[in-house]
Amino acid sequence: MDVTDILRELSDAAAELVRRGLVLASGGNVSFRQGDVVYISPTGSRLNALSPELFAQVAFPTGESLNAFKPSSELPMHLAAYQVREEARVIIHCHPPHLIALSALGWELPPMTADFFLYLNAERLPVVPYITPGTEELAHAVAEKLGEAPAVILGNHGILVTGPNVDKALTRVLLAEEMAYIYLTARQFGEPRVLTAADWHALKASRYRQTS
Ligand code: 13P
Ligand code: ZN
Repeated sequence: MDVTDILRELSDAAAELVRRGLVLASGGNVSFRQGDVVYISPTGSRLNALSPELFAQVAFPTGESLNAFKPSSELPMHLAAYQVREEARVIIHCHPPHLIALSALGWELPPMTADFFLYLNAERLPVVPYITPGTEELAHAVAEKLGEAPAVILGNHGILVTGPNVDKALTRVLLAEEMAYIYLTARQFGEPRVLTAADWHALKASRYRQTS
């Protein structure tokens, strides 16, 4: 796949975030890194109106502009994340409502099904407290937590997800929001069972992991 094909796939994924109510208006941003170039959605753009030729291009890791489009205000967060997660080729940042509700309560996102372990590859997703969007401070805080997992919840703001390709990054966003929805729904009726480290160990040895 060449860069244009990947940016088209990323634009489609971004539009799906809007369709699914995971980001509104000009919120959210997406990027793709190939070598020492990062392609990122322009600041203020609507995620359901992207196309390959509209992406801002910047040098990695300096962030120096390589074309006329103004990059997302969260460029520092994307650049910092690519530096920590060397395997990452795609980053998605959006504002999923159930994840934000959970973070506003000061709650962590617990694994509710085995898919959490399989796709997020962590026992828990780290959370950073609310920090002003678009700041270097937010970029530093996210980078610090990304060593623990491929995604970080941004308190009262949303989520940043990294992935080796568009499909994996999108799946991780959808799954994290689904977990938050399941947990919040269950919490209204009692104390839900959440999966544990022991459940993860057992999964690693199971057929399910090998076949999925
Ligand atoms: P941009 O429009 O600059 O990408 O910012 C959107 C956003 O979600 C900020 O956190
Ligand atoms: Zn945001």
